Amino acid sequence: MTAPIVRVLEHYFEGWEPPAERSGWVPTLCPSHPESRPSAAVNFGKGAVRCHSCGFRGDVISIIREMEGVSFADAQRRAAELSDGSHQPLRGQPERQSGRRVFGRPGTGERAQPVPPWLRR
Ligand SMILES: [Zn+2]
Repeated sequence: MTAPIVRVLEHYFEGWEPPAERSGWVPTLCPSHPESRPSAAVNFGKGAVRCHSCGFRGDVISIIREMEGVSFADAQRRAAELSDGSHQPLRGQPERQSGRRVFGRPGTGERAQPVPPWLRR
């Protein structure tokens, strides 16, 4: 039993709102960065998400692996825990360093690249 993609995104990305529409690829605000118009899409059936703007993509397992820095097997356990609500953070409090990038490596937050001026909003 694995967790639905929306459960995973809601868990790791505070403030992310699942879209109402649930069939096929549904446009949604990218969970990985702030934006005002949806550039990402989530697929409830496939349990996957992808962003055309920043390249953020993944499924339930790969997102958990990136967010928690765990192996595939551990991510599967996490997914099961998320689906039944028994999820506990692996290492004390979950760390939310390095902004909201999923594909940044955990622990490298303070060496994040500065945002170039043309990308600032
Ligand atoms: Zn994005």
